[in-house]
Amino acid sequence: MLILMQSDHTKAELAGVLKRVRALKLTPHVIPGKLSVAVGITGNAGALDPHLFDVLPGVREAVRVSRPYKLSGRDFRHEDTVIPIGPYRLGGPDLIVIAGPCAVESEEQMMRIAHAVKKAGAQMLRGGAFKPRTSPYAFQGLGKKGLQLLAKARKETGMPIVTEVLDQRSLDDVAEYADVLQVGARNMQNFALLKDLAKLRKPVMLKRGLSATLDEWLMSAEYLLSEGNKDVFLCERGIRAFSDHARNTLDLNVVPAVKELSHLPIIVDPSHATGVRARVAPMARAAVAAGAHGLMIEVHDRPDQALCDGPQALHPDDFAVLMRDITAIGAALGKTLAAPRYGKK
Ligand code: PEP
Ligand code: MN
Repeated sequence: MLILMQSDHTKAELAGVLKRVRALKLTPHVIPGKLSVAVGITGNAGALDPHLFDVLPGVREAVRVSRPYKLSGRDFRHEDTVIPIGPYRLGGPDLIVIAGPCAVESEEQMMRIAHAVKKAGAQMLRGGAFKPRTSPYAFQGLGKKGLQLLAKARKETGMPIVTEVLDQRSLDDVAEYADVLQVGARNMQNFALLKDLAKLRKPVMLKRGLSATLDEWLMSAEYLLSEGNKDVFLCERGIRAFSDHARNTLDLNVVPAVKELSHLPIIVDPSHATGVRARVAPMARAAVAAGAHGLMIEVHDRPDQALCDGPQALHPDDFAVLMRDITAIGAALGKTLAAPRYGKK
C-alpha cells in the first residue's frame, strides 16, 4: 500500500497517517517527493483496505501496489509452476494436448476415440462424465459409469484422464478416478467447490468463467492455492462478447497477459471458444503461437451422432493433421510436443 499525501498537507496530518499505520502494527516508510510526500507500508500479510487511510485528513489517495492474488501472482513467486501429471510435465517447454470427446457416451465410443487421439500424439484424454448442460433435458453424462469407462481407457492407453467435477456431491468419485479435475467455466466462481478442491493434492484445471476478467480468474485460482494445492493450471475457453459469429470469443490476448501476471501454466480450448469445427484448428495453431503451454481439443469419430458438442468436434484424421502442424509451430518457439519421459509421480 502506498499513501499519497495532498501537496498542502500539514505535519500534523502526516503524523496522523503514521500513527494509523503503526496502530495497525505495520511499518510506515516516508518517501519525500518533489511535490508532496508518499508513505509506503510494509509488514502486512494480506491486502489492506485503501479506505483505512484515504479517509484521513491530508491524504490524496491510497493505492495498492501488490496484487490481491498473492499465491497465483508473480509478486511472491517468480519461477513458472510446472505440474507433474503422470509421465508428463505441464508448464515447462513441453506442449501438452488433452483430447477426447465432450462426453463419455459408451465403452465402445470412449475406447475408439482414446486410441485414435493417442495414435495422433495426444498426451492426455478428456471426456465428461458429469456434464453441465444449458438444458435440463439434454444428456447429463453417464456419471460414475462414465468415470469407470475413463479409467478403463486410461488402463488401455496409459493416458492420464481429465474430467469435470460438477459439484461437491460427485467430488469424491471424480477425485478417485481423475488424474486432473476440471472446473468448468460455469463453476469458476463456485467458491464452495473451489475450497473443497483446494484441500486435495490433485491437479486442477480451472477454466475461465463465461465473462470473467483476468483478475477474477486469478482470484479463483487463489482459492485453490490457498489451502496448499499447488498443482493448478488455467484454461482459456472463450468469453461472452458482442460478436455473434461464434459460440464464444477466444481471448488469445489473455495468454501473454496470464504469463506476465501469473506463474501458473495456461492452456487453450479452441473447441468451446469457437463452437465450429472448421475454426478449431486455426485457433489451436494460433494459441500455440501465442505461447500457450498446451491445448484441450474435442475429438469425435462420429460427430453427427455425438450426444454433446458434435458440431465442434474434430474428426481424428483432422486432429492428426493439427498435431503435425502444432509440432512445427511449437518447434519454431523451442517447444516440443511432450513424450512420456518422466516416471509416474
Ligand atoms: C467442457 O470442457 O466439456 C466444458 C463443458 O467446457 P466449459 O466449462 O468451458 O463450457
Ligand atoms: Mn464440450
